[in-house]
Amino acid sequence: MARPPKRKVVTEKPAVDYYKPRGIPMIQLEENSLTLEEMEAFRLADGLGCYQEDAATRMGVSRQTFQRLLKQARSKIVDALVNGKALHMSGGNYITPAGKGNYRCGYCGGEMKPGTGAKGPPLRCPTCD
Ligand SMILES: [Zn+2]
Repeated sequence: MARPPKRKVVTEKPAVDYYKPRGIPMIQLEENSLTLEEMEAFRLADGLGCYQEDAATRMGVSRQTFQRLLKQARSKIVDALVNGKALHMSGGNYITPAGKGNYRCGYCGGEMKPGTGAKGPPLRCPTCD
């Protein structure tokens, strides 16, 4: 059986969850959807200039996973800017730090403790699983 996909740590969410070109009605717009972990990879790499190794550690993912997230984010963002599409940033499989080494579930906001004996972020939320 495949292991459940690992949840990525998102430290800072975008200030807004939507961008659209001015003067074009929503109904005529195409939209690219970005997950919050794709946005976080983009923020860490291109916004803060983090090394990919460090950024991957901060998100609790492998370097390959980080690179994949970053590539997806960049291609969706550049496609939106070049081709006049809207950007919708929401959802994904992520957790946020909640202080004292705990995390908060990206779906339900419930608090999660790191798995015992295992380093790093927890895989499942006790509230919404
Ligand atoms: Zn939850």
